[in-house]
Amino acid sequence: MTAQSYQFQAEVAKLLHIVTHSLYSEKEIFLRELISNASDACERLRYLAIADPGLTGGDADFRILVHVDKDQGTLSISDNGVGMDRDDMVENLGTIARSGSTAFMEQVAEGKTADLSVIGQFGVGFYSAFMVAEEVSVTSRRAGTDQAFTWVSGGTGEYTIEESSRDGRGTTVVLKIRDEQKEFLETWRLRQIIETYSDHITWPIVISASNDEADAENEPVNKASALWTRPKSEITEQQYTEFYRHVGGAFDEPWLVLHTRIEGKVEYTLLLFVPTEKPFDLFHPERKHRVKLYVKRVFITDEAEGLAPSYLRFLRGIVDSEDLPLNVSREMLQNEPMLRHMRGQIVKRVLSELEKKAEKDPEGFTAFWRNFGAVLKEGIYEDHEVGPRILKLARFDSTAGDELTSLDGYVERMKPGQEAIYYITADDLAAARRSPHLEGFAKKGVEVLLLTDAVDDFWLQGHGEYDGKQMKSVTRGGADLSEITGDETAEDDADKPEAPKEGDLATLIAAFKETLGDSVKDVRTSDRLAESPVCLVADDNDMDMRLERMLKAHKQVEEASRRVLEINPRHALIIRLVDRLRDKGMDADIEEAARLLFDQARIIEGDPLDDPAAFSRRMASFMSRAI
Ligand code: ADP
Ligand code: MG
Repeated sequence: MTAQSYQFQAEVAKLLHIVTHSLYSEKEIFLRELISNASDACERLRYLAIADPGLTGGDADFRILVHVDKDQGTLSISDNGVGMDRDDMVENLGTIARSGSTAFMEQVAEGKTADLSVIGQFGVGFYSAFMVAEEVSVTSRRAGTDQAFTWVSGGTGEYTIEESSRDGRGTTVVLKIRDEQKEFLETWRLRQIIETYSDHITWPIVISASNDEADAENEPVNKASALWTRPKSEITEQQYTEFYRHVGGAFDEPWLVLHTRIEGKVEYTLLLFVPTEKPFDLFHPERKHRVKLYVKRVFITDEAEGLAPSYLRFLRGIVDSEDLPLNVSREMLQNEPMLRHMRGQIVKRVLSELEKKAEKDPEGFTAFWRNFGAVLKEGIYEDHEVGPRILKLARFDSTAGDELTSLDGYVERMKPGQEAIYYITADDLAAARRSPHLEGFAKKGVEVLLLTDAVDDFWLQGHGEYDGKQMKSVTRGGADLSEITGDETAEDDADKPEAPKEGDLATLIAAFKETLGDSVKDVRTSDRLAESPVCLVADDNDMDMRLERMLKAHKQVEEASRRVLEINPRHALIIRLVDRLRDKGMDADIEEAARLLFDQARIIEGDPLDDPAAFSRRMASFMSRAI
C-alpha cells in the first residue's frame, strides 16, 4: 500500500505555521501535551473496557513509554491506550473540531499572547510537537482491531497516512527532533520536564534510551497514582497546579484549591479549583459545568449533568466516588441521588471557601469577583437556598467610589431615614454614572449601586432584598428621597431658583399630559433630578426599563410599557415654561417643548425615538428662534 496524501484543514495549516515559526522559548511543554494525550487515550480505553473487557485483551496495565534514540535523533512517546484508525487520524490530527482553536489563533495573531503554553487549553496541544520536531509520525492501532496506520507530516500543508503495523494496540508518536532542540534527546532533561509537568499522571511514565541497558525495566519517573488519592501534606503546590492545568485545560495558576474527602454513608473525594484568569468559554450558551466524574479512579464522564450547578461553571476539577458502580450510565446518572449529594457538598464547600477568602483576602476576592461574579450571581435566582449567601458575597460598583462594595458595606453607609438599597442597572458603568436618575441621590449623598451585568436584571426580579431591606431601582416608582436626611444643606440650594407654585406647575403638567397623550403613562414632578429638566421612570408595578429593553430586543415582550415622565420643578427651563403658560396660555410652543423634552428623556434612557426626523426639525426650529 502506498501512502495517501491529505491536505490539512486551512485552520490547522495556519496554526502549524504559527507553531513552527514561533520564537516561544518554553518549547518543553510539547512533552506535557503528548503525555497528556497518551494519558487521555489510556483513560478512554479503560472506560470503554468496562462495557467491553475484551478491548484490553489481557493487557490492562496502562503505561506511557518515552524513548530516545540519539543516533536517529528521535524522541518517541508510546501508550497502550485506545489508539486511532485512519478515520480517527484524519479527524483528530488533520482538522480542528473545537471552536476554541479559532480563539487561540486570534489571540496569537493579534499579539495578545506569545505564550504557546496555553495551546492545550484550546484543544490543539498535539500540534505543539512541531515546535521541536521537523517531522512527526504517529503510528497507531485502535483497540479491538488488527490494522495499524502511520500518519506523517513535516508540519506544512499536508500529511500522509499509510497502512503499517504495530505490536498491540495504542499509539506511538515519533518526533524527529530539530538540530536546535537537541536538549530533548537528553534523558535527564526529559526526566526534569516530566517531573515538572506530568507527575500527576495516573499511569507510570518510563524513560528509556536505545543505549540504555535496563531499558523498559526502568522505574517510572512519576508517582503514577491519582493525585487526589495522595495525602494533602504530600502534594506540592506545583503538583496541584499541573494537575489543575491538565484536568481543566488551563494555563494559569489556580486561585483556590479545594481538596477534601467526604466520609460517612457515602464516600467521595473532591479536588476542585477556581481559576485565576477568566476562561474564554465562561459565557457559552450551554453554561455547562466542567467538573469531571470519576468512579474508583476511573474517568467516567465530564458531562454528568447535575453534578455541579451551572452558576459554579468556573470550577475545574474532579469528583471521585467510591460508591457508584463503575458501569454507571449517563441515563442512570440523571436521577442518581448520589449526584445530588455531591452537588450539595460542592456548593456548600465552595461557598464556604469563598466566604473565607472574602474575609481573609479581600483584594484577591475582588479579583475573583470581577472574573466570576456575573456567573455566581445566577445562583441567586437559580438556587433559593444559597441565594442569600451569594448576595452576601456579592460585590458591586457604586457611586460611593471606585472600589467594589458588599451589601453589608452599603448598609453601613445608609443615611438616616433611608429604608431601601438603591441601584441602577445599565449596560456599562459610564452609562450608569451619567444617568440623570442619580442626580437627586448624589445631591443628598445617598449611595446608589451601579449594576452592569445582564444577569442583574434577572435576580433583582423577586430576590432584591437584603438584610430586611428592599433593593429599589432609582429608575422606578416615586423616589422617596424627601424622607432621607442626607448631606444636603440649605445653602446648597440657596442659588437655585425656587420651584413654581403648585397650581401653576399642575397646569404645565396637564398641558404636557394632553400633548403627549398615550405615549406616557403619567407626568409628575420629581425630586430625583438636580441638573436635568426631565427623565423617564418606570411605574412601581411595571418592569424595569432596562430589562424590558433587553427582553424586547430578544422579542420576549411585544410592546414596551408606557413610562412616567418626571419633570424637575426647579430647573430653569421648566420654570420658564410654567411662567409662559400662565401668562400666554397654551400654544404651539408649549406643545413643541413637551415633545422635545419627552424625546430628550428617551435619548438619555437609550430608547429609540419614534420619529427622529421630527425631533430634529423641532430642535432646529426652537434653536433658530432662540439664537
Ligand atoms: P485534545 O487532547 O485537547 O483533544 P490534541 O491536539 O492534544 O487535543 O489532540 C487531538 C486529538 O488527537 C485527541 O483528542 C485525540 O482524539 C487524538 N490523539 C492525540 N494523541 C493521541 C493518542 N496518543 N492516542 C489516541 N488518540 C490521540
Ligand atoms: Mg491534548
